[in-house]
Amino acid sequence: MKSRSRRGEWASGGWFAGARRCSSPNRGERPAGIEVELALIHSISLPPGRYGGNEIEHLFTNCLDWEADPYFQSIREIKVSAHFVVRRDGELLQFVGCDERAWHAGASAWRGRENCNDYSVGIELEGMEGERFEPAQYVCLSEVLKALARRYPISGVAGHEHVAPGRKQDPGVGFEWLRLITLLDWPARFFPEVVVAGPERAGNALGQADPRRY
Ligand SMILES: [Zn+2]
Repeated sequence: MKSRSRRGEWASGGWFAGARRCSSPNRGERPAGIEVELALIHSISLPPGRYGGNEIEHLFTNCLDWEADPYFQSIREIKVSAHFVVRRDGELLQFVGCDERAWHAGASAWRGRENCNDYSVGIELEGMEGERFEPAQYVCLSEVLKALARRYPISGVAGHEHVAPGRKQDPGVGFEWLRLITLLDWPARFFPEVVVAGPERAGNALGQADPRRY
């Protein structure tokens, strides 16, 4: 694998040094020969709208108390995961090494290519669809995306809503794509066409930089 990672930035298996490790059993091997090319952004809170608890960690490690909240009955026994969770205060948690496949996208397609879990990294932002996210979350998200691009041939960043339209709405309208794009300074072609605000913006603020250089 070609890699321009900084020394010590990634441990073997694709564990990021800047994250607190909470290993999840909900994972598997990526198909042979498949590289990580897409970063998928999600939002989650458990129960919806309540922040700061450990329910997301418990869900992704299969130890959520299904009786603790009526909402949990609607997701009872599901087995899901994401590679990363970004808490409201910007803390970064990692559940699955990025060399492996996490279970976050479901039925999905990015630019015509199906089964996004096979070739993507899933990043959950603690939050609600349609609500705003915290500045510290954008900073953390941009840092982990830059680190991912140093290790993997990332060529796209999208929301769950963009790869599963009609089925998923996260991270939703409260997520400020241009804020993320400005922090990353990556070309417009990396992002869903619908979130890039026209050619003027794309030509000026987004630059022509190749993220793999960073
Ligand atoms: Zn999602």
